[in-house]
Amino acid sequence: MNVTIRELADWLRGFDDIAVFGHRAPDGDACGSCVAVALALRALGKRAVACLPEGMPEFLRFLPGQECVVPDGELPFTPQCALAVDVSAPDMLGDNRALFEACPQRAVLDHHGSNPFFGQRNHVEPNRAAAGEMALLLIAELGVTLTKDMASCLFAAISSDSGNFNYSNTTAETFESAAVCVRAGADVDEITGYIYRTRTEARTRLLGLCLAELKREGKVAWARVTNAMFERAGAMRCDTERIVNYLIEIEGVEIAALAIEQEDGCSAKFSLRCVAPYNVARDVAQPLGGGGHERAAGITIHRPLDEALNMVLARVREIL
Ligand code: 5GP
Ligand code: MN
Repeated sequence: MNVTIRELADWLRGFDDIAVFGHRAPDGDACGSCVAVALALRALGKRAVACLPEGMPEFLRFLPGQECVVPDGELPFTPQCALAVDVSAPDMLGDNRALFEACPQRAVLDHHGSNPFFGQRNHVEPNRAAAGEMALLLIAELGVTLTKDMASCLFAAISSDSGNFNYSNTTAETFESAAVCVRAGADVDEITGYIYRTRTEARTRLLGLCLAELKREGKVAWARVTNAMFERAGAMRCDTERIVNYLIEIEGVEIAALAIEQEDGCSAKFSLRCVAPYNVARDVAQPLGGGGHERAAGITIHRPLDEALNMVLARVREIL
């Protein structure tokens, strides 16, 4: 069933114990949106947690509201309902999928056009740059005053998914949502400083190792991050975030793929980016079991790195 944000707010008001779920390898949008909604629900006197697979990544640990976050499978109560925010498909719930599905009442608030409407109630707006924009509206519909902590989380969410307001998904409403957050106390310099102007040495070394081996074929660029590179750089899994941007930003490149070897050594996660008129969600990710947005999509393929990469490149060559 399709619902409005107001209907979602009315529905949430009917429960006392609520779990908010983000996607695996949570990014700024998932973390910021889920924590802000959990904080707003707590402000209404509810028990609420933000379930983020593997917890909040290191580079977002500066965000307020960390006390709401529970990693995989460690719920302090049995939730009466579940709200998935920024989760494009059930498998993106990662190790929390069973927890989500065990909740008797489930809803989805998302901005991925590929979302299969996996909740009993769904509100999906593919034109929103970030789930954070919709979380902001939900908090307003809940009648909760936006605190500085909620606003900081939502500004981080909106800034993250819009590439700090420079991706093609950025709209007038994106700026308006951000302005609401800034007025409520979000510190632009502090938040963007952590997200865009600081990186650990390990992350910097991983970027170097990866880009040193980038491959180019006409309009396509790709690179791999192997487990050996993670080890050599001393980097964490979340340190691959945004590496793919360096590929799509190469002059003349119109489709970019970053292949990340998973810890098991026999599966690979892909970050895909493109420019208009290509649609990597519909034409590359979805046929291989993934999803995302027109210009930014992803897939996890249960094959060794190079085999999986060849599957992705074959699809890419077909759409050129
Ligand atoms: P990123 O490259 O930043 O990890 O992901 C880009 C977009 O693709 C995000 O909106 C994310 O939700 C989506 N995405 C990434 N990996 C997967 C995946 O394995 N499955 C699906 N359905 N979507 C994904
Ligand atoms: Mn998002």
